[in-house]
Amino acid sequence: MSVLLIQDGRVYTADDRNRILASGCVLVVDGRIAAVGTAAEVGSAVAALSPERSAELTVIDANRMTVLPGFVNAHWHETFVLRLTGQYALRPVSDRSDTGGMLSGGGRPYEVSAAFDASADLAELMRPDEAEAVARYSMWTQLRCGVTTLGDTGSVNRPEALANAARALGMRCVVSLWAADAVCDPNREKPRRTRDTEAVLARVEDLARMAAADTSGLVRARPSAAYVTNMTDELGTGLAEVIERHDLPFVTHVAALRTEAEMTRRHFGRTGLRRLAELSLLTDRLMAVHCGFLDEGEQRMLLASGASISVSPAKYGCTGETSLTETSTIATLRKAGVAVSVSTDGSPLPHPGMLEAMRAAWNGFSERTGDPNEVRPSDALAMATSIPARGLRWPDIGSIAPGNLADLVLVRTDDWRYLLQPRALESLLMLGGSPDIDTVLVGGRTVLRDGGAVGVDEDALRSDYLDALESFSSRCLAVDAAPLLRSARRRPAPRGDRRAG
Ligand SMILES: [Zn+2]
Repeated sequence: MSVLLIQDGRVYTADDRNRILASGCVLVVDGRIAAVGTAAEVGSAVAALSPERSAELTVIDANRMTVLPGFVNAHWHETFVLRLTGQYALRPVSDRSDTGGMLSGGGRPYEVSAAFDASADLAELMRPDEAEAVARYSMWTQLRCGVTTLGDTGSVNRPEALANAARALGMRCVVSLWAADAVCDPNREKPRRTRDTEAVLARVEDLARMAAADTSGLVRARPSAAYVTNMTDELGTGLAEVIERHDLPFVTHVAALRTEAEMTRRHFGRTGLRRLAELSLLTDRLMAVHCGFLDEGEQRMLLASGASISVSPAKYGCTGETSLTETSTIATLRKAGVAVSVSTDGSPLPHPGMLEAMRAAWNGFSERTGDPNEVRPSDALAMATSIPARGLRWPDIGSIAPGNLADLVLVRTDDWRYLLQPRALESLLMLGGSPDIDTVLVGGRTVLRDGGAVGVDEDALRSDYLDALESFSSRCLAVDAAPLLRSARRRPAPRGDRRAG
């Protein structure tokens, strides 16, 4: 293990006091934060090291950098295996004929329910080697954007592959699976069962056991129900029992679309959050995703439960979702004390990262309320770090505080954007973005330096991904994209994988 001193950086702690140090130091000993503060404060901790530990000390000069806690992306889906479909890589170049998708304009929930049900089967079709190659590349793009902990919320991939990819990349992942056993069908009153509930629950048990057996410290488990429309009451009751017995958090999408409540009332007799409450899933273990369309009664129930909320404001406009701004629900609940965090959600193409989500939260919440201090940049940082860490029930990540795991992000903040600017995070959110991330540490270990992976061959990550994409797409989706992939392979490994511009 090691002793590392990061000195003279602008340090945003996202700790209980949300401390910001204009010139701060962070001492890391054996993967955990031993001290954080001014040079004098941390200097005394360095002086107290034994001679043997002092001899191991390495120093990072962060004079031109801003130091942030590693980002905790607690609502994410791994879906990069679907890149070669008509909605993504095979789209026409022009966007002029685009029409809204199933999430747009209030949403088409029957299509969403059907798509979420089908997603569970696609993951089963992936070979283990394909699943791992896709997971490694997909998760690397998140690490590249400063995410040190991913919260899987159901993926078109296998949980074992996500766990193995996390260990290969040296990042943290709270793995899940796309638990679904029903679909809402517009032609039937009752939801149609699509899978054996006991079999789904057995896989959830396996997930819990797999994470419990992890010795890397990088992998945990959080069962999810893909969507409140895709879960029978039996599955919900079983999930509540499993998460209680294994002491796990739980996540699901709920009140995500304007049209959702009408459909859940028709097929289940009640709205989504009320279902969760009746199934014993509305507790402080729950991270409820999106939530823009909770009615007033549901808002009171959520507030009383201690559940948290995750929103993905940077991608809503891209998909035509309106969770943040059509209603005042999220802003109202946040004001009332609900822990609201930001996340990226998932897509087969790279889409806005955590810095972009922070910018959207800062801008969106403040614009909605007409108060520039409704969500300050440092609040937005907490929404991307310490708040989602608590939602994942992982208390020793998400802030730069003594005793916490040393998951850190360093960004160069010394160019024209930062001239005479005391508030580096403000300019980073205004004019910067995910490709600006320079260095990432997980548990004190450097996994990204100068924007490039450390100890991982990025060219191999990319070519293994393209191979897996080709084999899966031709075998399972009847897509022959060989010419497209040939041209992608011919392009030299872009430096753009490393830094913007
Ligand atoms: Zn989602």
